[in-house]
Amino acid sequence: MQPPSDCMVDYDPNALSVEEALRRIDTDIQPLAETEKVALSECLGRVLGEDIISPLNVPAYANSAMDGYALRGSDIPASGMRELHMIGTAWAGTPFAEPVEPGECVRIMTGALLPQGADTVIMQERVERQGDKVQIDSRNKPGQHVRRAGEDLAAGQIVMHTGKLLRPAELGVLASLGIAEIVLKRTLRVAFFTTGDELCSLGEPLSPGKIYDSNRYTIAGMLRRLGVTVIDLGIVRDRREDIARAFTQAASVADAIITSGGVSVGEADFVKETLEALGQVSLWKIAMKPGRPLAFGKIENSIFFGLPGNPVSAMTTFYQFVQPALQRLMGQSATSNHLIKVPCVSRLKKAPGRMEFQRGKLERDAGGQLTVRSTGEQGSGILSSMSQADCFIVLPVTSGDVEPGNWVEVQLFEGLV
Ligand code: AMP
Ligand code: MG
Repeated sequence: MQPPSDCMVDYDPNALSVEEALRRIDTDIQPLAETEKVALSECLGRVLGEDIISPLNVPAYANSAMDGYALRGSDIPASGMRELHMIGTAWAGTPFAEPVEPGECVRIMTGALLPQGADTVIMQERVERQGDKVQIDSRNKPGQHVRRAGEDLAAGQIVMHTGKLLRPAELGVLASLGIAEIVLKRTLRVAFFTTGDELCSLGEPLSPGKIYDSNRYTIAGMLRRLGVTVIDLGIVRDRREDIARAFTQAASVADAIITSGGVSVGEADFVKETLEALGQVSLWKIAMKPGRPLAFGKIENSIFFGLPGNPVSAMTTFYQFVQPALQRLMGQSATSNHLIKVPCVSRLKKAPGRMEFQRGKLERDAGGQLTVRSTGEQGSGILSSMSQADCFIVLPVTSGDVEPGNWVEVQLFEGLV
């Protein structure tokens, strides 16, 4: 069999698969052990540092799920109507203190403690009332419309495990348990700098051959989204002493160091030589597009990721490798980043040999089916493609071109919570 021609395939026998790179990173990272106590109101986006055991039942007592009438279920007639005598009202926060006897009922509001003896609530729309005479009928079931004590969470049960990312729902659950201070994993410190003699800071005029340092802003933004403490070490010029000094400084303050640029074929040896004295670094050619080169290693006690300089490559490699690695380092339990299968309405160019992360935008077709469209030009320097997109179209290594109507997998940029 003839090997396919060069322009058709993109296999590199020395390249590492995305999965293998992820596996190697994962085995090299140990989650932080240190914890700190933080007020619940400051816990959003942080990682739980201990298991939470419920100190009480939620709800703490049986209460009404409806506005209506509380009574004994045994008073519901088998057929026809029955008249009950209303003896008082139970409000949310102000219980009715007396027991409900056979033939009696209590007006009850949603959330109010169920009076002693009552085990059933009939919604107000289902009764006929005149003064303190309440007519109920046989359509009701004993036990209905009651929230049982502990039906949400039972006292003594493990409510959340160490490593849980605290979202608004978790803050609410912890508040419902009355827990005002939470043991969290300590915040991760991440230092980063960009490298390149061509880089120009904002506010400086752009002289010929220079570009504005956009990676500085995308990297800082992606780090901030993860809730880490971001240490911006600025632009570091392509000089050995400068780079070595920046790494030494970063390693002294940070749990992780991220750089952009300087890992492509032309510059990789320079970075590797510079880092040899400070730590261990592997330079990987990854079978992915965009983002083929990636440096990963350890500098003193910090982990290090060297991202490619191309803006889309820097973002893509951050999301695929750095983000899960930092989440693991901060003790967060593995997140499920589900891929969703949808039809693609665009034609996508793709050579087998690398996993591709093309940029796409989800939309509904006329029939209501969710579909994805390419954002267009897919060059690794076209940063606007990331801004237009709301997902990566993830094409497996073996995939060739995608024709309109073919199903593809997408990875969403944003979740609801
Ligand atoms: P490098 O990986 O250093 O070879 O850079 C690859 C490409 O990305 C070059 O075109 C660089 O000019 C560009 N680049 C490198 N660093 C940055 C940066 N911080 N912001 C924007 N573009 C960059
Ligand atoms: Mg460079």
